[in-house]
Amino acid sequence: VSAPVAERPRPLELPVFSAAARGILTRTSGFIREAGFTHSLTPARNCTYGCTYCYVPTMGLYGGLRPDDWRRWGQFTTFKENAAALLRRELRPGQIIYCSPLVDPYQPAESRQGLMPEVLRALADRPPRRFVLQTRGPLIVRDLDLLLRLARVTPVCVSFSLTTNREEIRRWYEPHTAPFAERLRVMGELRRAGLRVFATLAPLLPCDPEQLAQAALEASAEPLIADPLHVRDTKPQGATTRAQAFRIAQVRGHTDWWQPAFQAAVVDRLRAAAARYHRGLHTGPDGFRLLIQDPAAIHSSTTALRNG
Ligand code: SF4
Repeated sequence: VSAPVAERPRPLELPVFSAAARGILTRTSGFIREAGFTHSLTPARNCTYGCTYCYVPTMGLYGGLRPDDWRRWGQFTTFKENAAALLRRELRPGQIIYCSPLVDPYQPAESRQGLMPEVLRALADRPPRRFVLQTRGPLIVRDLDLLLRLARVTPVCVSFSLTTNREEIRRWYEPHTAPFAERLRVMGELRRAGLRVFATLAPLLPCDPEQLAQAALEASAEPLIADPLHVRDTKPQGATTRAQAFRIAQVRGHTDWWQPAFQAAVVDRLRAAAARYHRGLHTGPDGFRLLIQDPAAIHSSTTALRNG
């Protein structure tokens, strides 16, 4: 089901730059490393989706961001024009790569830039041990053939972000992203083509938990991955939710969604909904670790869930 075109905001004409980078693969640390990834691949600095809650600009200078990137998050982007050439030099067979913890590789500006096709060709020519794409961008279907080609030589997973089932919430917190219905349609298209697709409910914005879970479970054949909005009560250090999203929550009456006890109750409701489909739900690094597990390992834990 495609969302009505009228629901989409007009694409913003934001400045798009290109620059040569010194490197393209970064050794992981923190959350992503704990999940089992050895390297991250970030094809651009800054992300024109500009989600109001995005954790990345709260990391400061981490990951090669420049001060202007995190001060003016979402207002422009700079593609790493030599990404594919660097990859061909840096790829090794043992790497487990997450693309990307710092930008959406299919951010809107990629439609004109066309960097990802070359990146996927480089990966297919020198395949790593595993490759995971994290996105909320419908543009990924443009590269379906290249993703399938890559999946023939190494395990590939798409982790597709579904943050809420409620359109008014999406428009308030992440107005430049695709509507929920369009994301579900894209997930279906990727799956029907033969790719493994996970629904990643992260960060969890105000939503109808059972309806969100049901749609996610029907769009994916995998367990659910979920993560509440990061808050300082439970995560005293490191990246956290941008203040802009909290201001929206105050105006719209959603501050419960920043309370750890409320967040835990929402996760419980999602988990109960997943269990009705004999599927699991995992949070934090345990959730993201699913992305690099073989289907057989996941299937055995699903069988235990069914039998339990
Ligand atoms: S798509 Fe991801 S990286 Fe881009 S602004 Fe939104 S949360 Fe941040």
